[in-house]
Amino acid sequence: MMNGISKERMRSLIDEAYEKFKDDKTGKNADYIPYLARVDSKLFGIAACMPDGEIIAVGDCDYIFGVESVSKVMTAILILEQYGADTILHMIGADATGMPFNSVMAILLEKNHPTTPLVNAGAISAVSMVRPVGNSDDKWKAIVDNIERLCGERPRLIEELYKSESVSNFNNRAIAWLLKHYNRIYDDPDMSLDLYTRQCSLGITARQLAICGATIANDGVNPVTKEKVFEKRLAPKITAMLAAVGFYEHTGDWMFTSGLPAKTGVGGGIMGVLPGRFGIAAFAPPLDGSGNSVKAQKALRYIMNKLETGIYNSF
Ligand code: GLU
Repeated sequence: MMNGISKERMRSLIDEAYEKFKDDKTGKNADYIPYLARVDSKLFGIAACMPDGEIIAVGDCDYIFGVESVSKVMTAILILEQYGADTILHMIGADATGMPFNSVMAILLEKNHPTTPLVNAGAISAVSMVRPVGNSDDKWKAIVDNIERLCGERPRLIEELYKSESVSNFNNRAIAWLLKHYNRIYDDPDMSLDLYTRQCSLGITARQLAICGATIANDGVNPVTKEKVFEKRLAPKITAMLAAVGFYEHTGDWMFTSGLPAKTGVGGGIMGVLPGRFGIAAFAPPLDGSGNSVKAQKALRYIMNKLETGIYNSF
């Protein structure tokens, strides 16, 4: 038994969810980034990482896919470590935008700050803050080192995805320069955008995302490597950000139906965090209209409802 949830129970729920949704054909791969449109849409995996580091996994949990927006959480952790929570609240924010992930309107409406590191604008701003400011190579090393510590393995760049995204990211280019207009980007805008695009193009697996989620759930200590990755007091700050905006404009619906603070990425991954209990991830490329994986949502929601142990349940 681990904090009230046995591994046997988790194993049987993960297996059930996999069987129940594996043939679901709803949704469509992201197509605004050409590489993502070509990924096999039948891929599907679910993995949980328990507090002792044991991984319970089914399906395509070792397939390497684009981390995309889940990387926003990882780099938010890095700048929270480098600057502290108060500075991040002041320079970026921790609020929901209520708008799509790539919204320019959200910046226009909230010009006093970009709102949260978990949408494109705030994430580009977050990357611009990564120290050492002014040095692209060292910033990149800090970003990848941090992800390696959170996941327990070094992620590698999917070059083809990076190229594909770099030649098609016109909306994000506009965001970077609009942030410059409002003095909310803290390093060179083009360099910040490039680093953001590169971090989104890192390859990750559902297994690694589950470990990252468990590191957050475990107050900053990676339960597999046992390394302390970040300060304990930052863990609730990360979870609060996930619960506020992890599913973009549908975060309220997601939290209402699942009780699981989580972050999605257009690569098809979702990483969930249940503080003190476990990290959980699911991966399936077809997305709904807001850019959130359909099958991964269904699977995680199913597991959470069966467990009846969401973040809002009393215990
Ligand atoms: N790299 C993607 C973009 O900036 C990430 C979006 C997402 O995963 O939600 O458009």
